[in-house]
Amino acid sequence: MMASLQKELVAQLKKGEALDLRADGKAGSGLVMTLQVFAEAVSLEGTYQVQEWPFFSSARKGANVRGFMRVGKGPLFMTCQVESPHVALLFTEKTGEEIDFASGVSKGIFVLNTAYHAIEAAQKFRLRGEVFTVSGDRLGQEYLHHPIPNISVLAALHKALPLVSVQQVVQALKHNGEKRRLPLKAIQANQDCLLASLKEVSSAVVQGEEAWEHPLPSFAGYEGYPIGAQSALRSSLQNLTANYARTGRRLVFQDPQDRCTGCSLCIVNCPEGIIQFVPDEKRGIRVTGADVNHFCKLCRECIEACPLDLFEEVEGALV
Ligand code: SF4
Ligand code: SF4
Repeated sequence: MMASLQKELVAQLKKGEALDLRADGKAGSGLVMTLQVFAEAVSLEGTYQVQEWPFFSSARKGANVRGFMRVGKGPLFMTCQVESPHVALLFTEKTGEEIDFASGVSKGIFVLNTAYHAIEAAQKFRLRGEVFTVSGDRLGQEYLHHPIPNISVLAALHKALPLVSVQQVVQALKHNGEKRRLPLKAIQANQDCLLASLKEVSSAVVQGEEAWEHPLPSFAGYEGYPIGAQSALRSSLQNLTANYARTGRRLVFQDPQDRCTGCSLCIVNCPEGIIQFVPDEKRGIRVTGADVNHFCKLCRECIEACPLDLFEEVEGALV
């Protein structure tokens, strides 16, 4: 049975108005993967169009990160960040203590990874609307042997925003695992975790108190950094993200038989944007390597993405 806000949002979507989601958590909590899978499930449904994008590039594990999703019935032309989401997700409680993950939402749908019941979580974070919680760290530990909440939050998101069937979420999750070339065992564990999590989501409709407002903070630069510091940090030679990679390991790209098809999967999946390519008449582009020595943090996205296994992690120092 859908609660009233859920009904309102689904009706709004059907009328052609876009629906905005925003997710906050720590790097390493699987936030991007959850949004990717949910976006794929929604697009599989065929009725809606979806945009999803992370709001960060290099981030050390433990840094607060943010991602967005926008769903609409027709083409989506807005690409600005989501400031007042209809649905706000919190992947890591610690993040919720450091920033206001509900900023810009006076009443909405909230999805949280927490051991608290929805009513307790609403009190703790001063939330008004419909609140869904799931104990994602515990379920991650139980099913994936790692306290990662991404699959459980996906389950809670599906409950909070019933735009697609469970089967479509399972299909998108499986496809995401295959795309990342996860072993079959890991793909099955993800699915088991999803199905178990669906049974453990708690929810509540919370009136809350009028005073529980979450105003949008005015932009005041990047903390102690000057405006524009993000791009300066991103490209600064003093901030080489290659330093985040495991010591004594490096990435190599080898294509002696010129097999690269130009599918671009490595290019779109590299969070550093450092895959190098050249124009190619037949293939569109042909990959030639990556700027490994400066910015490769050895996240392995390109290794997982390339269908031809042209990238490899090997022993060896950066040059
Ligand atoms: S491992 Fe691959 S995807 Fe990750 S930063 Fe390095 S080149 Fe990019
Ligand atoms: S993923 Fe592999 S085949 Fe596709 S463009 Fe990159 S290197 Fe080439």
